[in-house]
Amino acid sequence: MADNFLKNVESAITNMNKALNAHQRVHPEVTGPAKELAVQSQKLLDKYLAVTESLKSQIDNYRSLLNDTQTDNNEKLQKVLDKLESIPVNMSTPYNVVAQNPPKTCYKTVLVKPKNNLLSPPQAKEAICNSIPASDIMCNQISINKTNVAFKFSNENSKNKFLKRVSENTDLNTAIDAYEPTPKCPTIKLKNIDYSTNESDIINQLITQNDLQDLRSHVKLLFTIKKRHYFDAILCVSPHVFELLFQRTLFIGWSACNAEQIFLLGHCSKCLSFQHRTKDCPSQSNKKCKNCGISFSASRINNQQSEFSIHIKNCSYFNCCHCAEKNLPADHPALTDHCPLYCKRIKNTWDRTCFDNSTKVQFFDKPPLADTSTSNNLNNTPPSPNTQPSSSSP
Ligand SMILES: [Zn+2]
Ligand SMILES: [Zn+2]
Ligand SMILES: [Zn+2]
Repeated sequence: MADNFLKNVESAITNMNKALNAHQRVHPEVTGPAKELAVQSQKLLDKYLAVTESLKSQIDNYRSLLNDTQTDNNEKLQKVLDKLESIPVNMSTPYNVVAQNPPKTCYKTVLVKPKNNLLSPPQAKEAICNSIPASDIMCNQISINKTNVAFKFSNENSKNKFLKRVSENTDLNTAIDAYEPTPKCPTIKLKNIDYSTNESDIINQLITQNDLQDLRSHVKLLFTIKKRHYFDAILCVSPHVFELLFQRTLFIGWSACNAEQIFLLGHCSKCLSFQHRTKDCPSQSNKKCKNCGISFSASRINNQQSEFSIHIKNCSYFNCCHCAEKNLPADHPALTDHCPLYCKRIKNTWDRTCFDNSTKVQFFDKPPLADTSTSNNLNNTPPSPNTQPSSSSP
C-alpha cells in the first residue's frame, strides 16, 4: 500500500513537471507555486523514504537484539540445567528438602523367572521372544541376570499387555513365572521419639494418633537408632504414602516429629565397609572413626569410656577411609555430604527408589504366633547401623 502511494505521488510530480514544461504560456503566478509544490513534494517524499528506511533498520536491530538475548538466555538456562544435572545430590540441603524433586521416569518392569530351573534365563528370553510378537507390545529393553529376565516397558499399557500375552500362552505358563517386582520403597526417619514409646508400638501409635488407619499395612518399622535421651525410628513406606507423611507433624506417644527422608546405604557401622553388614563384621570390638579412618576399641572396661568414644571427641584429622582406599583426595570425613563416593551412593539409591504416588506396596507382617511374640518381631529387623551420636545429625 505504501509502495502504491509512493508511486502515485511520484507520478503526480512527474506529470506536473511535464505539464509545466509543455505549456509555455501558463502564467508565472501559476508555474511558480506549482514548481515550488513539485520540489517540496519531492523533498517530502525523500524524507518519508529516509524515515521509513531508518525505522526499518531500527526494527531489524531490535529483532536481532531480541534473538541474541533469547539465545543468550537459552544458553544460560542450559548451563544452569547442566550444572544441576551434574550435581550428584544436593550437598547441603537436608534430605527431606532434596526429596521433593520428582525422580526421573522409571520403567515398568516385568520379571520372568524360569520355573523349577526348566530353562536358563537366556532360554526363557528366547521362548518369550519366539512366542509373543514384539510388534504390538512396545518393549523398551530386555536385560538378563543369573536368575531372571527383566522386560522393561515405558508405560502401564504395554506392561499389562505383555503380562496378558504370557498368561494366555499355556506353554510359557508351564515353564516360566512372569511377575512385577516389588519396587524399592522410600525410607524415612522419625526423629527423637521418647523412650516411653515401646518399639513394638511405634507403628500402632503412628497410625492411631495421626488418623492414618488406611495406611496400616503400608508402613513398616525397619529398626531404631538409640540415643541418650530419645531414639529414632527408621521406617519403610509405600511410595503412595511417602509424600503424605511429610505434610504435617506426626505424633507418636509423647513425641511430635517430622518425617525426614533417609537413604540406607547398608554400610557396616563398625568398620564402615559397604561390603558387609554390621552383624557380619570381622573387626569384632573395634570401630573405625569417620573422620580419620583409624580403628579404635569400642569396648568399655570397668564402665570407663571406650577408646573409640574418647577419640571421636577430639578427632579433627580428615582422611576418608572410602576415598583413601581408591586413592582419591580424602581430606574429608567419610559418610558425609563432603565425600563424592558417599554422594554417588546416595544418588544411586535415590534413583532406584520408587516415589510414584500411584504405586501401592503392602507390607505383610509375619502373623504373631502368640501374644508374647510381639517383641520378637523386632528381631527380624536389621541391627541399628550406627549408634554413634554424631550419625544422627542430618
Ligand atoms: Zn565391618
Ligand atoms: Zn578419628
Ligand atoms: Zn570420601
